[in-house]
Amino acid sequence: MSFNINITKVEQSKVDALDFDNIPLGTTFTDHMFICDYENGEWINPRIVPMGLIPTHPAAMALHYGQAIFEGMKAYKDTHGEPMLFRPDQNAKRLNTSADRMGMPHFPEDLFVEGLKELVSLEHNWIPPKDGSALYLRPFMYADEPFIGMRAATHYKFIIMASPAGPFFSKRIKLWAEKQFIRAAHGGTGEAKAAGNYAAAIRPTELAKAKGYDQVLWLDAAEHKYIQEVGTMNIFFKIDGAFITPKLDGSVLDGITRKSVIDVLRNKGLNVIERLITLQEIKEASQNGTLEEAFGAGTAVGIAYIQEIGLEGETIHVSDESPVGLEINNTLDAIKTGKEEDKFGWMLKTR
Ligand code: PMP
Repeated sequence: MSFNINITKVEQSKVDALDFDNIPLGTTFTDHMFICDYENGEWINPRIVPMGLIPTHPAAMALHYGQAIFEGMKAYKDTHGEPMLFRPDQNAKRLNTSADRMGMPHFPEDLFVEGLKELVSLEHNWIPPKDGSALYLRPFMYADEPFIGMRAATHYKFIIMASPAGPFFSKRIKLWAEKQFIRAAHGGTGEAKAAGNYAAAIRPTELAKAKGYDQVLWLDAAEHKYIQEVGTMNIFFKIDGAFITPKLDGSVLDGITRKSVIDVLRNKGLNVIERLITLQEIKEASQNGTLEEAFGAGTAVGIAYIQEIGLEGETIHVSDESPVGLEINNTLDAIKTGKEEDKFGWMLKTR
Protein backbone atom coordinates (compact mmCIF):
# COMPACT_ATOMS: atom_id res chain seq x y z
CA MET A 1 0.00 0.00 0.00
CA SER A 2 1.29 3.50 -0.62
CA PHE A 3 0.49 6.31 1.77
CA ASN A 4 0.32 10.01 1.32
CA ILE A 5 2.68 11.30 3.97
CA ASN A 6 2.63 15.08 4.00
CA ILE A 7 6.09 16.53 4.69
CA THR A 8 6.79 19.96 6.16
CA LYS A 9 10.53 20.56 6.37
CA VAL A 10 12.43 22.84 8.73
CA GLU A 11 14.00 25.89 7.12
CA GLN A 12 17.38 25.20 8.62
CA SER A 13 18.65 21.84 9.88
CA LYS A 14 20.30 21.75 13.33
CA VAL A 15 22.56 18.86 12.37
CA ASP A 16 25.62 21.07 11.84
CA ALA A 17 25.55 22.05 15.53
CA LEU A 18 25.95 18.41 16.61
CA ASP A 19 29.39 17.18 17.63
CA PHE A 20 29.29 13.58 16.38
CA ASP A 21 32.27 12.73 18.59
CA ASN A 22 30.37 13.75 21.67
CA ILE A 23 26.70 12.94 21.34
CA PRO A 24 24.79 13.61 24.55
CA LEU A 25 22.73 10.52 25.47
CA GLY A 26 19.02 10.78 24.81
CA THR A 27 18.75 14.56 24.76
CA THR A 28 19.36 15.39 21.11
CA PHE A 29 16.54 15.02 18.62
CA THR A 30 16.61 15.34 14.86
CA ASP A 31 14.84 18.11 12.94
CA HIS A 32 11.59 16.27 12.24
CA MET A 33 9.09 13.78 13.63
CA PHE A 34 6.41 11.59 12.08
CA ILE A 35 2.87 11.95 13.46
CA CYS A 36 -0.44 10.25 12.76
CA ASP A 37 -3.81 10.72 14.54
CA TYR A 38 -6.46 8.17 15.41
CA GLU A 39 -10.02 9.46 15.28
CA ASN A 40 -13.39 7.86 14.58
CA GLY A 41 -11.86 4.41 14.31
CA GLU A 42 -9.15 5.21 11.77
CA TRP A 43 -5.61 6.50 11.46
CA ILE A 44 -5.56 9.78 9.57
CA ASN A 45 -3.23 12.53 8.42
CA PRO A 46 0.19 10.82 8.45
CA ARG A 47 2.72 13.64 8.31
CA ILE A 48 6.30 14.63 8.97
CA VAL A 49 6.65 17.97 10.70
CA PRO A 50 9.41 19.92 12.46
CA MET A 51 10.21 18.42 15.88
CA GLY A 52 8.41 20.43 18.51
CA LEU A 53 6.00 20.47 21.42
CA ILE A 54 2.56 18.89 21.12
CA PRO A 55 -0.37 20.66 22.79
CA THR A 56 -1.85 18.18 25.28
CA HIS A 57 -5.06 18.47 27.29
CA PRO A 58 -4.41 17.84 31.01
CA ALA A 59 -7.12 15.15 30.89
CA ALA A 60 -5.35 13.26 28.07
CA MET A 61 -6.08 9.68 29.09
CA ALA A 62 -2.48 8.43 28.73
CA LEU A 63 -1.48 10.75 31.58
CA HIS A 64 -4.00 9.16 33.94
CA TYR A 65 -4.77 5.63 32.85
CA GLY A 66 -1.48 4.87 31.15
CA GLN A 67 -2.49 3.80 27.65
CA ALA A 68 1.02 4.43 26.32
CA ILE A 69 3.24 1.98 24.43
CA PHE A 70 6.50 2.37 22.57
CA GLU A 71 9.15 0.74 20.43
CA GLY A 72 12.92 1.15 20.25
CA MET A 73 15.05 0.49 17.20
CA LYS A 74 18.01 1.90 15.28
CA ALA A 75 18.93 3.06 11.78
CA TYR A 76 22.46 2.45 10.50
CA LYS A 77 24.49 3.41 7.45
CA ASP A 78 25.88 0.65 5.30
CA THR A 79 29.35 0.75 3.74
CA HIS A 80 27.98 2.84 0.83
CA GLY A 81 26.43 5.39 3.21
CA GLU A 82 22.89 4.10 2.59
CA PRO A 83 20.55 4.48 5.58
CA MET A 84 19.25 1.07 6.63
CA LEU A 85 16.67 -0.21 9.10
CA PHE A 86 17.09 -3.44 11.10
CA ARG A 87 13.97 -5.66 11.08
CA PRO A 88 11.40 -2.79 11.29
CA ASP A 89 8.57 -5.24 10.51
CA GLN A 90 9.28 -6.93 13.85
CA ASN A 91 8.88 -3.66 15.75
CA ALA A 92 5.64 -2.96 13.87
CA LYS A 93 4.28 -6.35 14.94
CA ARG A 94 5.40 -5.97 18.54
CA LEU A 95 3.77 -2.52 18.77
CA ASN A 96 0.47 -4.13 17.83
CA THR A 97 0.96 -6.94 20.35
CA SER A 98 1.42 -4.23 22.97
CA ALA A 99 -1.62 -2.36 21.62
CA ASP A 100 -3.77 -5.51 21.98
CA ARG A 101 -2.86 -5.93 25.64
CA MET A 102 -3.44 -2.27 26.46
CA GLY A 103 -6.80 -1.99 24.67
CA MET A 104 -5.37 0.31 22.00
CA PRO A 105 -5.95 0.25 18.24
CA HIS A 106 -3.49 -1.43 15.89
CA PHE A 107 -1.27 0.82 13.83
CA PRO A 108 -1.02 -0.36 10.19
CA GLU A 109 2.28 -2.25 9.92
CA ASP A 110 3.03 -1.00 6.41
CA LEU A 111 2.46 2.63 7.46
CA PHE A 112 4.75 2.04 10.48
CA VAL A 113 7.54 0.93 8.13
CA GLU A 114 6.77 3.62 5.55
CA GLY A 115 6.83 6.36 8.22
CA LEU A 116 10.20 5.10 9.46
CA LYS A 117 11.62 4.99 5.94
CA GLU A 118 10.47 8.52 5.13
CA LEU A 119 11.74 9.93 8.41
CA VAL A 120 15.10 8.17 8.26
CA SER A 121 15.78 9.09 4.65
CA LEU A 122 14.93 12.72 5.45
CA GLU A 123 17.20 12.64 8.54
CA HIS A 124 20.02 10.56 7.02
CA ASN A 125 22.59 13.26 7.87
CA TRP A 126 21.83 12.60 11.53
CA ILE A 127 22.97 8.96 11.40
CA PRO A 128 26.32 9.08 13.20
CA PRO A 129 29.12 7.78 10.95
CA LYS A 130 31.27 6.12 13.64
CA ASP A 131 31.34 2.38 14.19
CA GLY A 132 28.88 1.37 16.88
CA SER A 133 26.88 4.61 16.52
CA ALA A 134 23.36 4.73 15.13
CA LEU A 135 20.23 6.81 14.90
CA TYR A 136 17.92 5.63 17.66
CA LEU A 137 14.26 5.59 16.64
CA ARG A 138 11.41 5.81 19.08
CA PRO A 139 7.95 5.01 17.66
CA PHE A 140 5.21 5.36 20.29
CA MET A 141 1.46 5.55 20.70
CA TYR A 142 -0.59 7.15 23.45
CA ALA A 143 -4.16 8.06 24.28
CA ASP A 144 -4.65 11.81 23.85
CA GLU A 145 -8.41 11.94 24.34
CA PRO A 146 -9.38 14.30 27.17
CA PHE A 147 -11.68 12.17 29.34
CA ILE A 148 -12.02 11.25 32.99
CA GLY A 149 -13.23 7.68 33.32
CA MET A 150 -11.99 4.12 32.96
CA ARG A 151 -12.38 2.91 29.41
CA ALA A 152 -10.35 2.64 26.23
CA ALA A 153 -9.69 6.03 24.69
CA THR A 154 -11.09 6.87 21.27
CA HIS A 155 -8.32 9.29 20.23
CA TYR A 156 -4.63 8.39 19.99
CA LYS A 157 -1.44 9.73 18.51
CA PHE A 158 1.29 7.66 16.92
CA ILE A 159 4.65 9.45 16.71
CA ILE A 160 8.18 8.54 15.63
CA MET A 161 11.09 10.55 16.99
CA ALA A 162 14.77 10.07 16.18
CA SER A 163 17.78 10.69 18.38
CA PRO A 164 21.42 10.14 17.40
CA ALA A 165 23.27 7.74 19.73
CA GLY A 166 27.06 7.68 20.16
CA PRO A 167 29.15 4.54 19.98
CA PHE A 168 28.20 2.09 22.65
CA PHE A 169 30.88 -0.23 23.90
CA SER A 170 29.73 -3.56 25.20
CA LYS A 171 30.60 -3.75 28.82
CA ARG A 172 30.63 -6.15 31.70
CA ILE A 173 27.73 -5.76 34.09
CA LYS A 174 26.79 -6.88 37.57
CA LEU A 175 23.20 -7.86 38.25
CA TRP A 176 21.05 -7.71 41.35
CA ALA A 177 18.58 -10.62 41.57
CA GLU A 178 15.47 -8.80 42.77
CA LYS A 179 13.18 -10.64 45.19
CA GLN A 180 11.15 -7.79 46.65
CA PHE A 181 9.88 -6.13 43.48
CA ILE A 182 8.80 -7.78 40.24
CA ARG A 183 8.58 -6.62 36.62
CA ALA A 184 5.88 -8.91 35.29
CA ALA A 185 3.36 -11.44 36.51
CA HIS A 186 1.38 -14.02 34.54
CA GLY A 187 -1.65 -12.26 33.11
CA GLY A 188 0.05 -8.88 33.53
CA THR A 189 1.64 -6.64 30.92
CA GLY A 190 5.19 -8.07 30.75
CA GLU A 191 4.95 -8.97 27.09
CA ALA A 192 3.76 -5.46 26.17
CA LYS A 193 6.21 -2.63 25.72
CA ALA A 194 3.98 -0.47 27.89
CA ALA A 195 5.20 2.72 29.55
CA GLY A 196 3.91 1.58 32.95
CA ASN A 197 6.24 -1.44 32.99
CA TYR A 198 9.19 0.94 32.89
CA ALA A 199 7.73 3.23 35.57
CA ALA A 200 7.46 0.23 37.90
CA ALA A 201 11.10 -0.72 37.19
CA ILE A 202 12.62 2.67 38.03
CA ARG A 203 12.66 2.41 41.83
CA PRO A 204 14.02 -1.18 41.98
CA THR A 205 16.71 -0.20 39.45
CA GLU A 206 17.72 2.80 41.54
CA LEU A 207 17.95 0.60 44.63
CA ALA A 208 20.08 -1.97 42.80
CA LYS A 209 22.41 0.79 41.58
CA ALA A 210 22.72 2.14 45.12
CA LYS A 211 23.96 -1.34 46.13
CA GLY A 212 26.65 -1.15 43.43
CA TYR A 213 24.92 -3.18 40.69
CA ASP A 214 24.31 -2.11 37.09
CA GLN A 215 20.95 -3.72 36.37
CA VAL A 216 18.14 -5.68 37.95
CA LEU A 217 17.77 -9.40 37.22
CA TRP A 218 13.99 -9.83 37.12
CA LEU A 219 12.53 -12.98 38.63
CA ASP A 220 9.05 -14.45 38.33
CA ALA A 221 6.31 -12.88 40.45
CA ALA A 222 4.96 -16.00 42.16
CA GLU A 223 8.09 -17.69 43.51
CA HIS A 224 11.06 -15.39 42.74
CA LYS A 225 12.65 -18.52 41.37
CA TYR A 226 12.66 -18.29 37.58
CA ILE A 227 14.78 -15.81 35.64
CA GLN A 228 12.89 -13.50 33.25
CA GLU A 229 15.07 -10.68 31.91
CA VAL A 230 17.76 -8.22 32.88
CA GLY A 231 17.04 -4.48 33.01
CA THR A 232 15.72 -3.75 29.54
CA MET A 233 17.41 -6.72 27.91
CA ASN A 234 16.71 -10.41 27.38
CA ILE A 235 19.20 -12.83 28.86
CA PHE A 236 21.28 -15.77 27.60
CA PHE A 237 23.35 -18.28 29.59
CA LYS A 238 25.89 -20.68 28.13
CA ILE A 239 25.87 -23.84 30.24
CA ASP A 240 27.82 -26.90 29.25
CA GLY A 241 28.06 -25.79 25.63
CA ALA A 242 24.34 -24.95 25.13
CA PHE A 243 22.77 -21.50 25.08
CA ILE A 244 19.73 -21.20 27.29
CA THR A 245 17.32 -18.26 27.31
CA PRO A 246 14.02 -17.90 29.20
CA LYS A 247 11.12 -18.95 26.99
CA LEU A 248 8.48 -16.38 26.04
CA ASP A 249 5.80 -17.15 28.61
CA GLY A 250 3.84 -13.90 28.44
CA SER A 251 5.96 -12.19 31.10
CA VAL A 252 9.10 -11.80 28.98
CA LEU A 253 9.41 -9.15 26.27
CA ASP A 254 9.84 -10.70 22.83
CA GLY A 255 13.11 -8.90 22.09
CA ILE A 256 14.17 -8.40 18.50
CA THR A 257 17.82 -8.72 19.52
CA ARG A 258 16.86 -11.94 21.36
CA LYS A 259 15.32 -13.54 18.29
CA SER A 260 18.24 -12.34 16.12
CA VAL A 261 20.81 -13.74 18.57
CA ILE A 262 18.96 -17.09 18.53
CA ASP A 263 19.06 -17.16 14.72
CA VAL A 264 22.76 -16.22 14.57
CA LEU A 265 23.70 -18.82 17.21
CA ARG A 266 21.73 -21.57 15.45
CA ASN A 267 23.18 -20.54 12.12
CA LYS A 268 26.65 -21.04 13.60
CA GLY A 269 25.58 -24.57 14.52
CA LEU A 270 25.22 -23.81 18.23
CA ASN A 271 22.52 -25.30 20.41
CA VAL A 272 19.91 -22.81 21.72
CA ILE A 273 17.22 -23.87 24.18
CA GLU A 274 14.25 -21.70 25.15
CA ARG A 275 12.90 -22.89 28.48
CA LEU A 276 12.33 -21.94 32.11
CA ILE A 277 15.58 -21.29 33.99
CA THR A 278 15.91 -21.05 37.75
CA LEU A 279 18.35 -18.89 39.64
CA GLN A 280 19.26 -22.01 41.62
CA GLU A 281 20.32 -23.76 38.41
CA ILE A 282 22.61 -20.84 37.52
CA LYS A 283 24.11 -20.95 41.00
CA GLU A 284 24.81 -24.68 40.70
CA ALA A 285 26.26 -24.29 37.20
CA SER A 286 28.56 -21.57 38.54
CA GLN A 287 29.68 -23.82 41.40
CA ASN A 288 30.30 -26.91 39.30
CA GLY A 289 32.08 -24.99 36.54
CA THR A 290 29.56 -25.57 33.72
CA LEU A 291 28.45 -21.91 33.54
CA GLU A 292 30.62 -20.64 30.71
CA GLU A 293 29.23 -17.17 29.99
CA ALA A 294 26.07 -15.07 30.12
CA PHE A 295 24.92 -11.89 28.42
CA GLY A 296 22.02 -9.49 28.11
CA ALA A 297 20.76 -8.64 24.61
CA GLY A 298 18.83 -5.55 23.54
CA THR A 299 18.69 -2.78 20.95
CA ALA A 300 20.18 -0.04 23.09
CA VAL A 301 23.42 -1.78 24.02
CA GLY A 302 23.63 -4.82 21.75
CA ILE A 303 25.24 -7.37 24.06
CA ALA A 304 26.25 -6.77 27.68
CA TYR A 305 28.34 -9.46 29.36
CA ILE A 306 27.34 -10.57 32.82
CA GLN A 307 30.13 -10.86 35.34
CA GLU A 308 28.22 -11.64 38.50
CA ILE A 309 24.78 -11.88 40.03
CA GLY A 310 24.26 -10.59 43.55
CA LEU A 311 21.51 -11.71 45.87
CA GLU A 312 20.87 -11.37 49.57
CA GLY A 313 23.98 -12.62 51.34
CA GLU A 314 25.75 -14.18 48.35
CA THR A 315 27.30 -13.59 44.94
CA ILE A 316 27.11 -15.88 41.94
CA HIS A 317 30.22 -15.53 39.82
CA VAL A 318 29.33 -15.86 36.14
CA SER A 319 32.33 -15.21 33.93
CA ASP A 320 35.02 -12.62 33.25
CA GLU A 321 34.98 -13.31 29.54
CA SER A 322 32.17 -13.69 27.01
CA PRO A 323 33.79 -14.92 23.81
CA VAL A 324 30.62 -16.10 22.07
CA GLY A 325 28.68 -13.02 23.20
CA LEU A 326 31.40 -10.87 21.69
CA GLU A 327 31.37 -12.84 18.45
CA ILE A 328 27.58 -12.56 18.15
CA ASN A 329 27.75 -8.84 18.85
CA ASN A 330 30.31 -8.41 16.08
CA THR A 331 28.23 -10.49 13.65
CA LEU A 332 25.10 -8.44 14.36
CA ASP A 333 27.01 -5.15 14.01
CA ALA A 334 28.54 -6.32 10.73
CA ILE A 335 25.11 -7.25 9.33
CA LYS A 336 23.59 -3.93 10.44
CA THR A 337 26.35 -1.89 8.80
CA GLY A 338 26.56 -3.94 5.61
CA LYS A 339 30.04 -5.31 6.35
CA GLU A 340 28.72 -8.84 6.40
CA GLU A 341 26.24 -10.36 3.98
CA ASP A 342 22.63 -10.00 5.18
CA LYS A 343 21.93 -13.70 4.82
CA PHE A 344 18.85 -13.53 7.05
CA GLY A 345 17.22 -10.76 4.97
CA TRP A 346 16.94 -8.45 7.98
CA MET A 347 18.04 -5.11 6.53
CA LEU A 348 15.70 -2.68 4.77
CA LYS A 349 16.85 0.23 2.63
CA THR A 350 15.04 3.50 3.39
CA ARG A 351 15.20 5.02 -0.09
N1 PMP B 1 13.30 -6.58 27.59
C1 PMP B 1 12.83 -5.37 27.91
C2 PMP B 1 12.02 -5.21 29.14
C3 PMP B 1 13.09 -4.26 27.06
O1 PMP B 1 12.63 -3.04 27.37
C4 PMP B 1 13.84 -4.46 25.90
C5 PMP B 1 14.15 -3.30 24.99
N2 PMP B 1 13.12 -3.11 24.06
C6 PMP B 1 14.31 -5.75 25.60
C7 PMP B 1 14.02 -6.80 26.48
C8 PMP B 1 15.11 -6.03 24.36
O2 PMP B 1 14.30 -5.90 23.21
P1 PMP B 1 14.93 -5.48 21.82
O3 PMP B 1 15.99 -6.45 21.52
O4 PMP B 1 13.80 -5.53 20.87
O5 PMP B 1 15.49 -4.11 22.00
